[in-house]
Amino acid sequence: MDLFAHKDILKNKIENTIEVKNPATQEILAYIKKTDKDVLAEIINKADKAQKEWANILSEERADILMRFYYLMLEHKDILAEIMTKEQGKPISEAQGEIIYAASFIKWFAQQARHVCGDIMESKMQGQRLMTIKQPIGVCAAITPWNFPSAMITRKIAPALASGCAIIVKSASLTPLSAYALELLAKEAGIPKDVFVVVNGDSNVVSDVLCGSEIIRKLSFTGSTEVGAQLYAKCAKTIKKLSMELGGNAPFIVFDDANLQEAIEGIMASKFRNSGQTCVCANRIYVQSGIYSKLCVELEKAMRGLKVGNGLENGVNQGPLINQNALEKVKEHIADALKKGAKLLYGGKEHRLGGTYFEPTLLCDVESNMLVAKEETFGPLAPIFKFNTEEEVIAMANDTEFGLAAYFFTQDYKRQWRLAESLEYGMVGINTGLISNEVAPFGGVKHSGLGREGSKYGLEEYMELKYLCLSLK
Ligand code: NAP
Repeated sequence: MDLFAHKDILKNKIENTIEVKNPATQEILAYIKKTDKDVLAEIINKADKAQKEWANILSEERADILMRFYYLMLEHKDILAEIMTKEQGKPISEAQGEIIYAASFIKWFAQQARHVCGDIMESKMQGQRLMTIKQPIGVCAAITPWNFPSAMITRKIAPALASGCAIIVKSASLTPLSAYALELLAKEAGIPKDVFVVVNGDSNVVSDVLCGSEIIRKLSFTGSTEVGAQLYAKCAKTIKKLSMELGGNAPFIVFDDANLQEAIEGIMASKFRNSGQTCVCANRIYVQSGIYSKLCVELEKAMRGLKVGNGLENGVNQGPLINQNALEKVKEHIADALKKGAKLLYGGKEHRLGGTYFEPTLLCDVESNMLVAKEETFGPLAPIFKFNTEEEVIAMANDTEFGLAAYFFTQDYKRQWRLAESLEYGMVGINTGLISNEVAPFGGVKHSGLGREGSKYGLEEYMELKYLCLSLK
């Protein structure tokens, strides 16, 4: 795949471009042309026209085109993964896993496209028929983050395209190459060029145009709660439908009766994927007093097996952090916890490789007054809190404005139900640290967002329900 075949991707710097860097080596990979305001307005107008034609073709035909897109992604899995590792830093095996995960949304929604159904309701009167039909919302916009440069895009464009919407995606400035690669493959698959367009530029400028547009009827955003709240406000004037996948602060609870080895595997999977830079990463690990010391020992052993390095190298499973700010936040959380009495068991500082590499870090005796209890660390820091009773840990787990993902390990089936129902989160992993897939609804409550992505519910987010009242008199 030749990324430089895309008109917005350049080898040499010109004015008004975004520099794309490899966080593992600081090498400049490409320059991206910022989308000019007027060009963006034209893209929106063209999408408006193209959407109507796209919505008019049979859902079966849209599904066939999406399936071609799916197979093209699989065919190009290795190069897409390499592009992702180079611009984002995650290990190549994780990048390949993300491409398969990202492609699974295309396949899933291609299949869902043919199952859109309205209802017929019992009428209140003789000579009347009451029905609903579902129709695509129209032109949509998406703003996506850098931590999953492909999957956060396909999770939005797949339901949009399947339902007959057009969609304009503003990708993260740190990882635009994966977005443009998807656009190239979508065109090759037969998706009309104005129906799915990637744009870039200063986030405030681009989002002002997208949020202020009367043509765009929906915005789907994945990113921080802070930016989500700003976009929520910006969309108020045009009363857009919104999906918001925002920040998390996931509790990971291990009870005395848990299978210790499985709990360790769960923590490793949930905490250290993408070097701790996922919204569903375990952020606070609560361990019951009876198993506490043993778990700390076993977790440290498992963490010693992590290999930090350039994601393109063999055996590496911890890449660099995305940038210096990310590294500073991890340092700040560690320093704050140590100052307030936490104990350092492993790691704790910048990795000897330099740059934005950081040592996987284990802290114990962490308390609720520490920063790490309140904020998403978004890095390879595992903080262990001790608890005694079920009531106590439920209160601790819910003591946050976030509500994205939570996890717990226990073999007691009654407790499993009590916890599952008491945790104020959109998603709960029970005896597992991995919960995301295309079949299940992804999304949060409270400050973690609005709406659900993936699953049968994901398509609804891109459709309007219309009620028809037919008089037969
Ligand atoms: P971010 O700073 O909120 O950025 C996300 C996107 O918003 C990027 O495209 C960014 O553009 C854009 N943006 C930034 N400031 C903006 C502004 N003032 N107006 C309009 N757009 C703006 O988040 P991030 O650092 O990329 O991602 C990490 C966050 O995403 C974490 O909080 C994580 O929990 C959350 N996340 C949530 C989910 C979920 O499904 N709930 C999934 C993944 C990540 P630029 O790149 O150009 O700045």
